Amino acid sequence: MDAIITIIGIILGLGFFVIIIEFICKLIKRFLKLFGFFCEICPKCNAKDSFKLDSTKIIDRYNTSKKVDERTATGKRRERHIKCTKVVKKYVYCCRSCNYKYYIERTEELT
Ligand SMILES: [Zn+2]
Repeated sequence: MDAIITIIGIILGLGFFVIIIEFICKLIKRFLKLFGFFCEICPKCNAKDSFKLDSTKIIDRYNTSKKVDERTATGKRRERHIKCTKVVKKYVYCCRSCNYKYYIERTEELT
């Protein structure tokens, strides 16, 4: 009887483990996407990793301010707000094999 419970425990444990691994994979994928790595499958022709950056376009631009940490001469930290310009960029990605296009919008700081 004890052996069966142990086996059930192991199976449940493994199931839980698989769910966690899947969750971590999803997180990693989302994280990679943020940095522009695409491992997407084209919805039209099912080609894998076939997207290339086709064009970028600035569609909006606005002035805003951001918080920066500053160290004063006495070594103290001080918060300061400085002006900066942000742009909303449209990245158009295109499938190499069927020309399917999609775009994402990203806000970036103008440097
Ligand atoms: Zn395609």
